[in-house]
Amino acid sequence: MDDCIATNAAAQPAQLLRMEKGFPLHPVAVAPVETAHRRICTPLPAPESLPLLTSLRAKEPRSMSGQPPIVWHRGAGATVSDTYGNTWIDFSSGVLVTSSGHAHPRIVQAIAKTAQQGLYHAYCFPTDVRREIVEELAGWFPEPLSRVFLLTTGAEAVECCLKIACTAGRAIAADKRVIVSFENAFHGRTMGAQMAGGSPALKSWLGGFGADRFVQVPFPDGFRQRDTSFEVFERTLRECGVAPAEVCGVISETYQGCNATLMPPEYAQALREWCTQHQAALILDEVQAGFGRTGARMGFEHLGVVPDLVACGKGISGGMPMSAVVGKEDLMGLYGPGEMTSTHSANPICCAAALANLQAIREEGLVENARRLDPVLRAGLERIAQAGRGAVGHWDAVGLVGALQFTRPDETTPWPEAAWALVRGAVYRGVLLFAPVGVGGGAVKINPPLMIEEAMLREGLEVLAEVAAEMMEARSS
Ligand code: PMP
Repeated sequence: MDDCIATNAAAQPAQLLRMEKGFPLHPVAVAPVETAHRRICTPLPAPESLPLLTSLRAKEPRSMSGQPPIVWHRGAGATVSDTYGNTWIDFSSGVLVTSSGHAHPRIVQAIAKTAQQGLYHAYCFPTDVRREIVEELAGWFPEPLSRVFLLTTGAEAVECCLKIACTAGRAIAADKRVIVSFENAFHGRTMGAQMAGGSPALKSWLGGFGADRFVQVPFPDGFRQRDTSFEVFERTLRECGVAPAEVCGVISETYQGCNATLMPPEYAQALREWCTQHQAALILDEVQAGFGRTGARMGFEHLGVVPDLVACGKGISGGMPMSAVVGKEDLMGLYGPGEMTSTHSANPICCAAALANLQAIREEGLVENARRLDPVLRAGLERIAQAGRGAVGHWDAVGLVGALQFTRPDETTPWPEAAWALVRGAVYRGVLLFAPVGVGGGAVKINPPLMIEEAMLREGLEVLAEVAAEMMEARSS
């Protein structure tokens, strides 16, 4: 993309929207943008930000340089700003975290108040704020999900669920030790979470380690796996040589992060029955879907099932590192005092932030807002897919999370270069997206804070449709 080096003129779409991966570090002159919600007034990345960006590139592992080089300085509601005068409509929520909006006054105040009280660490000693958040969280879940265990990251919550399922299986039979998960699933980047994950590319470092204990079955997304019947689950296990009695747990996201398609309710209900029949723990990973993202309090409410264990994270706290496992009494009680803890379990500042966040989600009707805006997001994605003229092989959305699968003309092979062209084009115009994700890096996710107003959502979606149309035009010209 060397021809994109800064000029004083607004660059043409043909130059900016080339089908290439990544986001160049050299500033590109982009057309100025000024609306009530967006402002782009410098080349991007901002020339003054280069020392910061290059210093990070020099000191950190390459893995940390994957996002568009926009220096976050301040968030406010559904916008993010740098210090150079630019403001974006935030369609990322960080990474589906800031559900109640950036810098929510209740969260800011809760963090400040707890710090001023002189309490920013308490290990596993009891605190008042821990009692409050545990009680608040318990109220979000139906019976028999009555026990709440606080942790720090989503992957940590997933690891804990896997450990509990394996422990419960072992108590039944020594060979009841297989965890079933789903192809293309994402559960985090720690070892157990990656063994449960369903992307071969992310698991190659394991060199097959754990393959005797973790098997993946197709996720019934109706796109990569067209047959969504539960028969596929049972058949795949048979083909893998796994007997139901060997399975101690099944873990799935309620919608797969890479495609925003919920597990079909009939499938989920058959899976629930299967797990009960074979004494396997049903674990739902709600790290992404939980606390309103799908227009329901928890994603599993769409499915008509209640799992045995739930892994929570991201939107639980609005921004502070906090996760949780919520589960049935018998499973959560398998470990004795001091045997299932973590140094930063229930950090008081994180607890205070999570409490303020969940109260805001409840009292400000944000779950309802996500449900109300679901059709607006769906209509917007349909327009983007149409504007993308054949480059979008599949799209789906639920509540306030959507995903566009950029695919080559065969409609299934990922096209990450096209996905990146949309992300870059959006950022150049003041709509913030994170880097493409999912199978082959071909998926663009759209997930603004749940408090976004309809007009702002429409404005951002319109920008994406324009960019999609222009990038396809640039390609054919
Ligand atoms: N599960 C799901 C469904 C996720 O989307 C993620 C993060 N993207 C994780 C687990 C891992 O969470 P964390 O990055 O906080 O470890």
